[in-house]
Amino acid sequence: MSDKTFPVSKEFADQAHINHAKYEEMYARSINDPDAFWAEQANEYVTWFKPWKKTVDWSFAQADLHINWFTEAKLNVSYNCIDRHLEKRGDQTAIIWEGDSPEDTRLISYRELHKEVCQLANVLKERGVKKGDRVSLYMPMIPEATFAMLACTRIGAVHSIVFGGFSPEALSSRIQDSDCSVVITADQSMRGGKRVPLKANADVALKTCPSVHTCIVVKRGGDPIEWTEGRDVWYHDEVAKASVDCEPEQMDSEDPLFILYTSGSTGTPKGVLHTTGGYLVQAAMSHKTVFDYKDGDVYWCTADVGWVTGHTYIVYGPLTNGATTVMFEGIPSYPDMSRFWQIIDKHQVNIFYTAPTAIRSLMAAGNEPVEKTSRASLRVLGTVGEPINPEAWDWYHNVIGGGRCPIVDTWWQTETGGHMMTPLPGVNDLKPGSAMQPFFGVSPVLLDDEGNVIEGNPAAGNLAIDRPWPGAIRGVYGDPKRFYETYFAMFPGYYFTGDGARRDEDGHYWITGRVDDVLNISGHRLGTAEIEAALGLHPKVAEAAVVGYPHDLTGQGIYAYVTPMNGEVGTDELKAELIATVRKEIGPIAKVNIIQWSPGLPKTRSGKIMRRILRKIATNEIDSMGDTSTLAEPSVVDDLVAHRENT
Ligand code: ATP
Ligand code: MG
Repeated sequence: MSDKTFPVSKEFADQAHINHAKYEEMYARSINDPDAFWAEQANEYVTWFKPWKKTVDWSFAQADLHINWFTEAKLNVSYNCIDRHLEKRGDQTAIIWEGDSPEDTRLISYRELHKEVCQLANVLKERGVKKGDRVSLYMPMIPEATFAMLACTRIGAVHSIVFGGFSPEALSSRIQDSDCSVVITADQSMRGGKRVPLKANADVALKTCPSVHTCIVVKRGGDPIEWTEGRDVWYHDEVAKASVDCEPEQMDSEDPLFILYTSGSTGTPKGVLHTTGGYLVQAAMSHKTVFDYKDGDVYWCTADVGWVTGHTYIVYGPLTNGATTVMFEGIPSYPDMSRFWQIIDKHQVNIFYTAPTAIRSLMAAGNEPVEKTSRASLRVLGTVGEPINPEAWDWYHNVIGGGRCPIVDTWWQTETGGHMMTPLPGVNDLKPGSAMQPFFGVSPVLLDDEGNVIEGNPAAGNLAIDRPWPGAIRGVYGDPKRFYETYFAMFPGYYFTGDGARRDEDGHYWITGRVDDVLNISGHRLGTAEIEAALGLHPKVAEAAVVGYPHDLTGQGIYAYVTPMNGEVGTDELKAELIATVRKEIGPIAKVNIIQWSPGLPKTRSGKIMRRILRKIATNEIDSMGDTSTLAEPSVVDDLVAHRENT
């Protein structure tokens, strides 16, 4: 879309773990000799109790669907994240915790982390949790969330984290689906100075969850809560009584590590199952190479541990690498719009990883909150979760990064466990909005609708992967049929991502959005992401979402929901300007038919636009909106329905 490129500086490339030549050499080896390549990485990044027999053993065929990495090897995730660092880094800070209030900070060393995790692991054991049992975490972004994840891995329990913003109904259905026996939660969570009654929500959820015998409660907010004797225990009481030693369980490489329900942008959430060995190798390797992480760096990923990004890039990747990882409890706008940038200065953050939705909302607040901070410590920036429009990319690059920090635009999914396509900061001349090239071992293909591989450049089609990578999804919990049907049935022999992509003249990839969101206008395929990016170029647009609707002449028409900057009201004049902007950027074929002014857009709790709902509004199918339980603000939908434009 944008034809600007930002060359990698020689200075950066010279100090980077991976430069252009090294990427080419390693990538070729990862594809031509995956067994040797991944064996080497597995030994470099992870400590194993027992080596593997076979590096990878797999089939994507319906009758024999399986993906096994490092077969019969033994390891323990908490041992890799903690114990093996103790000798060299016992006193190093593992976690910098920044509370909702700027006055609340806690530094946790690797030695303290070890103690906390062992004690909680012993509490779980005492409550009868065994290897393979499922434990549900419904937690604020507090250190105890990380302790709980690692305590589960220490004893081989499988965690299932449910984002703390989800409702009791969403929590209950996830607990039931994976049959959890223990829930770990907190009395209240604190976000933006407001309290969310987590324990009260859990109480409602647990009414319909007979499998849960124990609810462990962290005291965070301190407000009174209801108590079920026998089931509920205080975290601090139990941990205080527990031993500080807990031998890590020897886990098989393919033993389940966690279940995580996807965020639900496209349908009912699925319990994505990840296993131990391959996932950890990919988490650690991608964390180090994609962010060019160096010993001593302070690294901050702003995700919540309720999302896969929090799993892989707040906890497992960084801690396996012995890093210092920042964990932030609050929100970017509290106490004011410069909170992120203040935290960067306060903790001297070197690597910063966030989502386009956060960048866009901070950009809408102007430069003043940014410019009063230094951000001189920053070296590498990253984004994840949605395509980033060039406008937001520019602002992130110039205003936040002072023009000197490479941006890694990482495309991946809950199902992929770790990064799949991304520039590497010492390798690529960056193209704003492009995920550039595959990560090591990832073999992407573009398929036409009949499943034929589209060769040559440029090209556009359905994005699929032709072989497994170590962090790949191993199943949909309890539903092998859905596993096959969701990911492998559409294009037999391939893992289908559900996303569309374009490959440009240079062979670089651009994610065009979900395939369901690709529009067909008079036979031309246009990604919603491209049209939205063009709308975003107009200075009066804060955010835009585009869907298709049936159109007599062109097959599909373009229906755009546009949020004007600073809460302003849209005018007909602005409509005309926007239509002209899109036409100029993409071409006459991209004629925006309808613009609806939208004070807010329906988003998932992780900030992604739910185009599925916008499509229903555009086509006036309000009655069949489907599951909306994962919406952040359901009221937004009522407003959009009330003001829908006739199609
Ligand atoms: P569900 O699968 O339940 O509908 P979801 O797909 O939003 O929800 P995630 O696994 O969190 O759940 O998100 C992965 C998706 O996010 C990708 O398939 C892609 O559509 C989008 N995505 C993630 N990172 C990027 C990126 N860097 N560029 C473009 N799109 C991205
Ligand atoms: Mg998805």
